[in-house]
Amino acid sequence: MSLLVVGSVAYDGIETPFGKRDRILGGSATYISVASSYFDNQVRLVGVVGHDFADEDIEFLKSKRVDLEGLQIDRSGKTFFWQGRYHYDLNNRDTLDTQLNVFEHFDPVLPESYRGSRYVALGNIEPGLQGKVLDQVSDADFVVMDTMNFWIEGNLEGLKKTLKRVNLLVINDSEARELADEPNLIKAAGIIREMGPEALIIKKGEHGALLFTDGEIFSAPAYPVVDIFDPTGAGDSFLGGLIGWLAYTDDLSPLNMRRAVIFGSVMASFCVEEFGPDRLRSLNEQQIYDRYRAFRELSEIPSPELA
Ligand code: AMP
Repeated sequence: MSLLVVGSVAYDGIETPFGKRDRILGGSATYISVASSYFDNQVRLVGVVGHDFADEDIEFLKSKRVDLEGLQIDRSGKTFFWQGRYHYDLNNRDTLDTQLNVFEHFDPVLPESYRGSRYVALGNIEPGLQGKVLDQVSDADFVVMDTMNFWIEGNLEGLKKTLKRVNLLVINDSEARELADEPNLIKAAGIIREMGPEALIIKKGEHGALLFTDGEIFSAPAYPVVDIFDPTGAGDSFLGGLIGWLAYTDDLSPLNMRRAVIFGSVMASFCVEEFGPDRLRSLNEQQIYDRYRAFRELSEIPSPELA
């Protein structure tokens, strides 16, 4: 199925307790596109890079069959750069540097061939830009969006406008509490769904994720990854796996949404095993399905002999 992805394409500088990389391919659109490409979709990327964007990174995206017609190359400046350092527990990170560069004047213009995309993933960018992308899509079946505390604090009105236009919002627990202004996650979920999206996923880092749909809550476990090297991109890989599965199956039933949450968790669990997107370079279908099965076994609850 056709899947439109918008977000940042970046170079990241990353420091974790296990090592350091000064400059590695990153960005929300990169992770979402690569993760979703494993599900046999026509992935179409919308983003911008600068004159310094390496040919080998273009070739990598192409090797994953990501359509780059919508990737603008702005030769007047450099690619978006983000630098972060993770704490010992890996759940917390400090942003050390954000250089918007060509991203500062990013104006997402969709090529004609992208406008009929059936599935849309709005990576974490300014909510007005996310809305602008939706303005150019004629009739999508399903729109999922990500956001972050920066926009909840800096552009709540714009965020609420975009929220009205999406089917599913994926955020982490602290962002959900902040957006709803409510400490209880279950109540917060109700408040957020009132804002527009009929479904909501709240990610809880190494504690899994909760999916809220009409009258239902699904709790997905997190995979107990032994070798976590770098959590960068885990959230975006989750989004990519999730929307990748939904687009591939073209099935939006509540049951299939649950499967999609697990495929999201599968892709996130692979992502953190190496630096940047490295682990996502060479996965195969078998590894993805094997890990899906491992997730199932992880949370299988045997029925007791009930009277
Ligand atoms: P995640 O770890 O899934 O939250 O996403 C990490 C990616 O987000 C990194 O590769 C960064 O390049 C990118 N990123 C960091 N800050 C921003 C920002 N303000 N806008 C867009 N992308 C960002």
